[in-house]
Amino acid sequence: MTAATTSITLRLAGLDVPAIEVTGARPGPRLTVIAGVHGCEYSSMAGLRGFVRDLDPERLSGTVVAVPVLNLPSFWARTPFVVPDDGKNLNRCFPGDPAGTLAERLAHDVFTQLIVGSDALVDMHAGDQVEALEPFALYDAGPQEAKSLALATAYGVGYVIRQDAGPDRAVSGSSSSAAAAAGIPAIIAEAGGCGLVTPEAVAAHRRGLGGVLAALGMQATADPTPAEPVFLERFLWLRCARGGWWTSEVEPGQRVSTGELLGTVTSLDGGEVIESIHAPAAGIPMFITTSPAVQDDGLLLGLGAPAAELAATA
Ligand SMILES: [Zn+2]
Repeated sequence: MTAATTSITLRLAGLDVPAIEVTGARPGPRLTVIAGVHGCEYSSMAGLRGFVRDLDPERLSGTVVAVPVLNLPSFWARTPFVVPDDGKNLNRCFPGDPAGTLAERLAHDVFTQLIVGSDALVDMHAGDQVEALEPFALYDAGPQEAKSLALATAYGVGYVIRQDAGPDRAVSGSSSSAAAAAGIPAIIAEAGGCGLVTPEAVAAHRRGLGGVLAALGMQATADPTPAEPVFLERFLWLRCARGGWWTSEVEPGQRVSTGELLGTVTSLDGGEVIESIHAPAAGIPMFITTSPAVQDDGLLLGLGAPAAELAATA
C-alpha cells in the first residue's frame, strides 16, 4: 500500500461533498468518520478536520475516510437539525430512500457509499445551535454491539448510552441504528454545543478519534486510557405538551432524582405556568434546549438514565 492523504470529492445526492482519504502504510480496517450530519454542530466538524489532517499515513494501518462537513445545505444555510430543502432531520432518514426528498437521498447515498463496506462508523455530533450538551457516546443494540460498545468506551467521554428498540426509544433512522442493522459497528459521538467551536469539545473529539483508532488496532494512541465511563441504558427525551417560554432549572451533566423539577414552560407574557417538567426517572440530562422558544410538542431535554430495573433497586 502507498501511504497517502488524499482530498477527494464524494457525489452524494447530487452534492459535491469534500472528503479526505488517509491510506495507511499497512493493511487494516476501513474506518468511516462523518461530521456535520447536522450542519451547525461545529465542534465535531472542527475536531474531525484537525484530527484527520494531522494523521500520519506512515503510522496508520488501514484506511480512514473522513467527511468533516457532510450536510452541505444545512451548513451553508446555518439551519440547525434539518436539511433546509425539505425540513427533514438527516439523522432520522437512514438508511435512506433513493427516490425520496433531499435528506432521504443524502442518507441513502451516505449509507450505500460510505457506511456499507466500512468496518466501523463514527458519526460525530454536538449539541446544535440551541442545545447545551454533556459529552457522550451512543451505540445501538445489534449483532455487533460488543464492538460498538468498545468503540463508544474508547471515545473516552464520560458517558456511554446503549439504545435498543424498546419503548423508551426516542427516535429512529439514525446512522448508527442503520449501521447496526447492517452488522457494522457504529457510534454517535457527541461533544460541544450551542453552535460554538470550543477548544475543550474539539479536544474531546480528537482524543475520541485517537481512542477509536487505537481500539481498532489502526494506530497507537499517546493519550492515557480514559476513565471508565458511566453506562446508561435509557435515553428519555422530554417534550412539552404546549408551546411557550422554556426555562431549564438544571444543567447538562447534573444528576437529578425522580420527580425533580427540571424546568417550566410559561406563557410568553410571563403570567402563567403552562407546564412544569419533572424527571420521570433518576438520571443525567445529556442535552438541554437552551432557546426559550418551544412549540407544541417541543423537545426540551434528553435524560440519560440507568436501566429501569437497576434504577428501581438503586
Ligand atoms: Zn447532531
